[in-house]
Amino acid sequence: MISKAEIDRLNADYAGRPPQELLRYVMERCGDRVALSSSLSIEDQTLTDMMLEINPQPRIFTLDTGRLFPETYQLIDKTNLRYGIKLEVFCPQTEALQQMVRDNGINLFYESIEKRHLCCQVRKLEPLSRAFRTLDAWVCGLRRAQSVTRSEMRLVEWDDAHGLLKVNPLIEWSEAQVWEYVRSHHVPYNQLHDKGYPSIGCEPCTRSVKPGDDIRSGRWWWEDPQHRECGLHAKH
Ligand code: SF4
Repeated sequence: MISKAEIDRLNADYAGRPPQELLRYVMERCGDRVALSSSLSIEDQTLTDMMLEINPQPRIFTLDTGRLFPETYQLIDKTNLRYGIKLEVFCPQTEALQQMVRDNGINLFYESIEKRHLCCQVRKLEPLSRAFRTLDAWVCGLRRAQSVTRSEMRLVEWDDAHGLLKVNPLIEWSEAQVWEYVRSHHVPYNQLHDKGYPSIGCEPCTRSVKPGDDIRSGRWWWEDPQHRECGLHAKH
């Protein structure tokens, strides 16, 4: 547990500084009780690269929902090969998944927000909560500029919903800064980014967008913008 005063101090101390400095601090402080939760986005790939510069064996995990794009699965392999690591992969529980599909069909998420949340719960949130059991802090690749739902997020926060520290080292970065890092460090990235997909999640819930569109407008595009989160970053 960390006090609100300490969180405020960390936010003040690390504001405007390179993300690696906050990463180093949290990795040294938490050891193997901190992990990057990676969706293989350019932000998470950037953080993977940065964490490996600090420690050759950081904890990095990803959630395999079973509905990812083939390009995303390829990127898991590419990342492991490039860095000589093995990303920890968490999958949904078989029984819960079978029950959900039996009761609601395989593509239930298009029917209502409730069913979409149920699918995200079974395929993402439950596996995430299993990953969290071994952690005191999680690192995320969120950026404030990504969407209306992220505009008030801070560098360091207490994640009340999950009961651990949440660290967002790239919160102040622009998309251009992330791409600059990816290109200059030859960081492997999802090939779908070159085909009009700025934000990539599960295949049935992601579509390409036109140049200039909001970068998250291709995610759950049939819902209102304020609903377009899977619950991973919910404020409770
Ligand atoms: S993003 Fe879509 S397919 Fe993936 S878990 Fe959520 S509702 Fe299910």
